[in-house]
Amino acid sequence: MAQVIDTDQLFARAKEIIPGGVSSPVRAFGSVGGTPVFVGEAHGAQVFDVNGVGYVDLVCSWGPALLGHAHPGVVEAVREAAKRGLSFGAPTRAEVELAELIRGRVPMAQQVRFVSTGTEATMTAIRLARGATGRDKIVKFAGCYHGHSDALLAAAGSGVATQGLPGSAGVTAAAAADTIVVEYNDAEALARVFKEAGEQIACVITESVPANMGVVPPAEGFNAELRRLTREHGALLIVDEVLTGFRVGPGGWLGIEEGTDPDLVTFGKVVGGGMPLAALAGRAEIMQLLAPVGPVYQAGTLSGNPLATAAGIATLTLADADVYAHVDRVSAEVQAAVTDALTAASVPHVVQAAGNLFSVFFRDEPVRNYEDAKAQDTDAFRRFFHAMLDQHVSLPPSAFEAWFLSSAHDEAALARIVDALPRAARAAAEG
Ligand SMILES: *Cc1c(COP(=O)(O)O)cnc(C)c1O
Repeated sequence: MAQVIDTDQLFARAKEIIPGGVSSPVRAFGSVGGTPVFVGEAHGAQVFDVNGVGYVDLVCSWGPALLGHAHPGVVEAVREAAKRGLSFGAPTRAEVELAELIRGRVPMAQQVRFVSTGTEATMTAIRLARGATGRDKIVKFAGCYHGHSDALLAAAGSGVATQGLPGSAGVTAAAAADTIVVEYNDAEALARVFKEAGEQIACVITESVPANMGVVPPAEGFNAELRRLTREHGALLIVDEVLTGFRVGPGGWLGIEEGTDPDLVTFGKVVGGGMPLAALAGRAEIMQLLAPVGPVYQAGTLSGNPLATAAGIATLTLADADVYAHVDRVSAEVQAAVTDALTAASVPHVVQAAGNLFSVFFRDEPVRNYEDAKAQDTDAFRRFFHAMLDQHVSLPPSAFEAWFLSSAHDEAALARIVDALPRAARAAAEG
């Protein structure tokens, strides 16, 4: 038998050489405590730790694994691409094909530029909006996360909230000064901001459905009101679909909710099928302002990487109507089972969903914004989380995250989740 790896020891070793032992903060289990699961491999609905112990996975790489882990069709596409070379620094036919697939699903994405991360996509979209309007200020909503570029790190949701930091050290006052932060779902506050500073505002950026403070659906008409206000004041509307794009449906949230019609949209996560790939897209006349056609500079050595592009094409090609119908169904079943278990154990909770995207807040009032989200019982979540993990179900290790399902979550995976819930709910109740 192979020697058992002591993951407490591995975590200690990791922390010696990597800050916090992790390459991205939430992975460190900071808000739930304990040693993170060190993953050795992942297949379908499960991740396996370095000792081969399987966990039903409700993280799905934070969204990308729409088809489950290591889907044979995606892995094969990447393997084939790798044989032809890992990176060229030159245009490829696959980039054109992926861009066309995106436009086929999201018609407003008239032109597409590929980057490697969601952070780059939103950062570039902001630069483009400033270049297009000649204005400096941007508006974002408290609790919305758009990656870790300086201007967008004010009141930025899960990662920052989980760490209990007000924003981030190292962001200059000047960078923050041009970012106006407004409470989410408060269209009147946004109208006031536009009334005061409208002619200085380059853009409003919003998550199509905020999911990085937990899932907080836009109030009826809220996104349409953002469109109306920005248009009225000559500002651009950027809709960040990095998390929702191609996950909540074939065309993302824009394909579900009508009337938003943004100028620019950002994609990431699912569009790269688990590889580092993201994109910004939008109206051609604005996208044409990007270098080399226009004056707004943006570039990337690994942008449109052939392996990542292959994974993206395979994922979007495989993500057909059956995939979305399945994810919708298993999502609804998990939501119902969580509600039943927490209700039976008298744990205050509210399950909030937008399409197949959902999260569980440990409070009994609906959550409309970041202030509400913060007013939940994170200690109850911590107990719930560890009781699930003990039963080999891996939830996002933070009360401020969405739970993710995939087309690989079958009846067996669902049964393991449902079976684990009552004990976890009782643990949450025993405060
Ligand atoms: C994940 C995420 C980002 C950042 O993407 P990275 O690839 O982690 O840089 C931006 N916006 C939203 C809505 C996200 O969920």
